[in-house]
Amino acid sequence: MVQINRKLCVGCATCIPYCPVEAFKKEAEERKVYVDEGICTNCYVCIRNKVCPVGAIEESSLDNFMKQFQHVISDPTVTSEGTGVPGRGTEEAKTNDVTGRYGRGEFGICIDMGRPGIGCRLRDAEKVAMAVAQAGVVLEGPEITPLATLMTDIKTGKLIDEALDTNVLSVIIEGKCPKEKLPDVLMALQRVEKEIETTFCLGIVSRAEQEEVSFFFETLEKLGIPKPFRGKVNVGLGRPLIP
Ligand code: SF4
Ligand code: SF4
Repeated sequence: MVQINRKLCVGCATCIPYCPVEAFKKEAEERKVYVDEGICTNCYVCIRNKVCPVGAIEESSLDNFMKQFQHVISDPTVTSEGTGVPGRGTEEAKTNDVTGRYGRGEFGICIDMGRPGIGCRLRDAEKVAMAVAQAGVVLEGPEITPLATLMTDIKTGKLIDEALDTNVLSVIIEGKCPKEKLPDVLMALQRVEKEIETTFCLGIVSRAEQEEVSFFFETLEKLGIPKPFRGKVNVGLGRPLIP
């Protein structure tokens, strides 16, 4: 975790704009800065960029599991031990052309919660994970996505209580649903987005086949959701997909 060496800090405030979640705060009494631990995500942007001219920002041990989790999720240079993937610990779902995680008649659901500048309390990640699980998404396990290591029940998306107040820069919820459940999943997301204090981007992954693509656009139209303005077709690297 990150702390300020008060003997060295001269209160120059150079560090303040570097923090993506505004965790550096000015002390009311003295010309010093401190780190608000309730906001800090342990992303180490301040450490990696050596932003303090007098070396007053110091790294100390991440002394509990939730702090270690924050660091793995929020620092893109760290590799998740559980998944073996750096950068939030989740392999990008758009590589389905080579991983083949989603078969015919299925949609991959990839919910990218939070952003630098906003962050995401895991309480909000839980709300979204539970909403989509109830609507028919089968959530990915800990071998695919680190958030699952905090779930008490992968079927519901419920997180352990001690995780809920934890702040991270962003975190990914991943799963898949059968085609016929996609409208329920999108409606669940429309409902839950009004109950959270952060933002999310939704990625829908399917095989680039006419049936899935047509169904997707028809579903959007029925629900009054504007067509997405960003899309991508990956062409595969020669590896055969699952049926
Ligand atoms: S940059 Fe360093 S010296 Fe300046 S306020 Fe931040 S911690 Fe203190
Ligand atoms: S570790 Fe990240 S969140 Fe914490 S004070 Fe440094 S830049 Fe801000």
